[in-house]
Amino acid sequence: MRDAADGGRADTRRADTRRADSRRDDSRGGAAYPEVAAHFAWTEELRRRAAANIDAQLPALLAKWGPVIGRRPTHITLRLMTSRWGSCTPATGRIRLNLQLGLMEPRFLEYVLVHEMTHLWERGHGAGFQRRMTAYLPGWKALRHDLNRRVVL
Ligand SMILES: [Zn+2]
Repeated sequence: MRDAADGGRADTRRADTRRADSRRDDSRGGAAYPEVAAHFAWTEELRRRAAANIDAQLPALLAKWGPVIGRRPTHITLRLMTSRWGSCTPATGRIRLNLQLGLMEPRFLEYVLVHEMTHLWERGHGAGFQRRMTAYLPGWKALRHDLNRRVVL
């Protein structure tokens, strides 16, 4: 989520889709918890637990944020992502969430979901995006800061 660097661009990696991504900030995340990343390994059980945790939270989160944001994702898919916490394809309404969010504090899942749902209105991270985020979730910059300190496993 490099707001300044990403500017109005939706995606820097794929030309075939118009996505807007929540990237982790490599300059801050990697070195903060090297021991966590070094000893962690995903297992089927952890994947199941993470997916179950997210699935358990999504209905209430969508019920809460759908009316506030005024748009809802058409699909939400969970998967392990190596460099971002979530992504959104505004043209299709599809949102992807990093499965790791299911092993973290619920506030991070909520932040990433709101972030990606905001991309259903605003493709980049410009002034319009930031204005919406502040209206929806006034503490979003602190959440982003905390999340960017976490290692993507
Ligand atoms: Zn984004």
